[in-house]
Amino acid sequence: MDQIIIENLRVYAHHGVYSEENKNGQNFYITAVMETDTRNAGTLDDLDLSTNYGEVCMFINDFVAEHTYKLIETVAEKTAEAVLLKFPLIRRVTLEIRKPEAPIPLPFESVSVKIVRGWHRAYLSCGSNMGDRKAHLDGAVEALREDNMCRVIKCSDWIVTEPYGGVVQEDFLNGAIALDTLYTPAMLLKKLHEIEYAHDRERKIHWGPRTLDLDILLYEDCVMHTEELTIPHADMHNRYFVLNPLAQIAPYERHPILGSSIGQLYEVLGNGAGKACVIENLHIERLTLEQAREIYGTYAQSDFPPEEIKPFRVIEETWGRGSYHAYGFYEGTTLCAYAFLVADVEKRLLLLDYFAVVGERRGQGYGSRALALLREGCAEWNALVIEVEDDELPDINEETRCMRKRRISFYTAAGCLMSTTRSRLWGVDYRIMVMPLMDQYAQMCMADKLHAIYTNLYREDILRQYFVITAE
Ligand code: ADP
Ligand code: MG
Repeated sequence: MDQIIIENLRVYAHHGVYSEENKNGQNFYITAVMETDTRNAGTLDDLDLSTNYGEVCMFINDFVAEHTYKLIETVAEKTAEAVLLKFPLIRRVTLEIRKPEAPIPLPFESVSVKIVRGWHRAYLSCGSNMGDRKAHLDGAVEALREDNMCRVIKCSDWIVTEPYGGVVQEDFLNGAIALDTLYTPAMLLKKLHEIEYAHDRERKIHWGPRTLDLDILLYEDCVMHTEELTIPHADMHNRYFVLNPLAQIAPYERHPILGSSIGQLYEVLGNGAGKACVIENLHIERLTLEQAREIYGTYAQSDFPPEEIKPFRVIEETWGRGSYHAYGFYEGTTLCAYAFLVADVEKRLLLLDYFAVVGERRGQGYGSRALALLREGCAEWNALVIEVEDDELPDINEETRCMRKRRISFYTAAGCLMSTTRSRLWGVDYRIMVMPLMDQYAQMCMADKLHAIYTNLYREDILRQYFVITAE
């Protein structure tokens, strides 16, 4: 972004820890680098389209001279905030407060504090299913508008959606809000909680009825995870009631982990979810070794390329050690899909070894439905690990890349997260995805755990010879 720079503005002021400093005052030198788009003003030679640096100098001078703080950290913090609130075209400011006359009994040139502060684009979701739902959502927007640390940029329509998460309750009214804010993510969450509580929100049942729920979906490109806050919102890509309104106001924003645009995520979810509804009678069955042998010998031979087919003996041996499971997904007695899994009993991890939808049932949402059943059926495990062919390799053609991306989108829509781990097996490059099964199972560095899973399938010497596992 373009910059307007004020260098070493001298202001006589009274900041300091010592009372002498507060009484007598001293010189402070202030450098401000303001990020703003100057193109329009520059092209049209029009000061009204820019920020008047003279006014900024006067403003900083008055602000710094009129207040008295102990720390120059505070001078910087408060001045930056005041400048950003006062001059609407400034997106970001780098502010350095120098204090060359600071009372230090040693020779020195200057001491200073330098900070960068600015407006951050955030996207929120809002929902209500109790009382006057529209009034609660409108009220939330109003409360954000009244806070000068926030600027509401856009609101989606409020849409009626069915409840999520299995608790029987009223329909929801949901929406999305685009916001510029000076708050950090943690401060923004605190603000949202205040607004929720002002609307009598009671946190009784998880996913239960609520007057108002406000969540942070995205905050710039920020990726963070603390006990209180996960950004991007951990489940946003699976939720119709989030993606539908968000796609209205921000279709081209990108999910910083998944890489897809909101429009793409919505499309993937919309398609999968729509079709999956038709499939009602699909059920999951744990297969016996004999059933697994039968399916592997017939279906798998045609569903997977020959280089991915291992001798069934390998599966049988692993099965014998209790480390291999297989499931069939049936409509009545008709096999529709199957999943073969390597199980690390100690770490409670499953690796999806083979997963396919049978012949004519492909492309109709059976895959999503089967994965959902698998997820329910394996709820006592920690996570399901999935190898997907690397879509980011430089030397693959566009068709291959597209196919790989589609497969990744499929798993993403089913609730899988992309890890930073990659592996190379028998010369094929994979990225590793993880579907958390246990509630709260955090994203983790998968490399060592993957290795443990593979060792259940292959001997240590073979692993060393053929496998490359990297984690960024
Ligand atoms: P939910 O929003 O999942 O339906 P709550 O509103 O009760 O349920 O949120 C529970 C907690 O989730 C909040 O107290 C907050 O600390 C945490 N949380 C984690 N990530 C986020 C986020 N991105 N936005 C809002 N809350 C979050
Ligand atoms: Mg919430």
